[in-house]
Amino acid sequence: MPKKYHIHPKATPLDLEYVCKFKIVRGENCINCGKCTKVCIYEAHKRRKDDPRKMADPNTVVCRNCFRCIQECPRGALEKSLDNDFTNIGGAFWKPDMLISLWKQAEDGKVPVSGAGYRGPFTGTGFDSMWTDMSEIVRPTRDGIHGREYISTSVDLGRRLNHLTFDTNGQLASKVPDTVDLSIPILFDTPVDNLISNVKVALVKAAAEINTCIIMPAVDITSDVEEYSNNIIPCLAPTEIDTYKAVLKKARLVSIEYSDTVLNDFPGLKEKIKKLSDALTIIRIPAMKDVEGIVAKLTHSGAEIIHIVADYRGQELNGSAGSDRRLLKDIIRAVHLRLVEDRIRDEITIIASGGIAMAEHVPKAMLCGADLTAIDIPLMIALGARVYEEPEKLLILPEGLAKIPLPIITQRMVNLMAAWHSQILEMMGAMGIREARRLRGETGRAIFFEEIDKETFGRLFKRREAVSV
Ligand code: SF4
Ligand code: SF4
Repeated sequence: MPKKYHIHPKATPLDLEYVCKFKIVRGENCINCGKCTKVCIYEAHKRRKDDPRKMADPNTVVCRNCFRCIQECPRGALEKSLDNDFTNIGGAFWKPDMLISLWKQAEDGKVPVSGAGYRGPFTGTGFDSMWTDMSEIVRPTRDGIHGREYISTSVDLGRRLNHLTFDTNGQLASKVPDTVDLSIPILFDTPVDNLISNVKVALVKAAAEINTCIIMPAVDITSDVEEYSNNIIPCLAPTEIDTYKAVLKKARLVSIEYSDTVLNDFPGLKEKIKKLSDALTIIRIPAMKDVEGIVAKLTHSGAEIIHIVADYRGQELNGSAGSDRRLLKDIIRAVHLRLVEDRIRDEITIIASGGIAMAEHVPKAMLCGADLTAIDIPLMIALGARVYEEPEKLLILPEGLAKIPLPIITQRMVNLMAAWHSQILEMMGAMGIREARRLRGETGRAIFFEEIDKETFGRLFKRREAVSV
């Protein structure tokens, strides 16, 4: 059995003004009895250090909204109300609750607890319109995390053989292509242009610590991150290959931006890279209309790894307008099914990114047909960044980020990944899947709202339509 993969979280608070869903206010009628200090297991209520006879202001940041203190205060002195800042952050995709949850996960690396049960809708758009089959949850699912049963989250990147051939002596005649193994099905993608130095180095160090890689513009691969070249995937246009020869030479993987030249002559491009480096090639394609056709053509031409990049809300980028844009879930399914139809699915590795915002999106993207995912914005949210969607995309980084020590920034990203890894293990355990590679395209473990909706009500509504006609 391989050595158990574990990410080590460590409580790493940041002195930031987080937005909280509710604010708790202690009224004048408080008699300082201290009952709230006992009922709140998250220690949101404490006595004042300078005068322990009195209560300190409630620490809303640690509150998990269970409402117990409100109910049990003998004087009804505690009030909880929606915070105005909360309603303003995020948007329709990056919901405020999501941002708060990511901040907390980066703080302690633990699986988030909502505390008050789930009271939201049971379906939505994109990944919210699919559920995973948790029928194995009757088994002790924590085994995966705590040791008795090993659940592997490893994946590999590279081209695979469709079949093996043997010579007349029974010896393997096929040349098995090289692959790169990662311990977690998540790559980092550079989240913003012009990263400040400590954030850039922290991203690279965090990627190395959890045994994954970061996709980074080749121009940003400077001497301060050179020692981590095993964990850096230089990203460049085909025309820049000669400019970055030295960077390419050290890389295990290289990401090449898609263009018509790449589509029309992948073997030529591969040959050019091969002369400089043994790196496997990732083709980075925007999630445009008919991306499935492009992926199929590239796979037939010998492409090894394809990275499909949707926008920050997981929408198709070009081609369709407004509400007609496909979402990442549907794009991945279309690509996967096209490759299955062409009988070439096993030959290629598919990375999906854009709108991977929560741990659950990783296994869901894989169930839809991706081999692994890449994330960007959540890494910035781990550092306390705020996202606004309206009137346009805005990512506000916390003030003073440049002065935060490197180990703290690194640890917060590691914490976020520790929390996601635990959640992925929980989901895999509950689905009865013990190996992340088996998640790919395993739609038997997923329930899609549009399919059960059609199955349940489709005929009924068809009949009604027929009657009204
Ligand atoms: S339980 Fe109520 S009265 Fe007692 S200390 Fe807390 S807020 Fe004050
Ligand atoms: S609502 Fe629950 S978690 Fe929040 S402060 Fe009160 S007791 Fe603590």
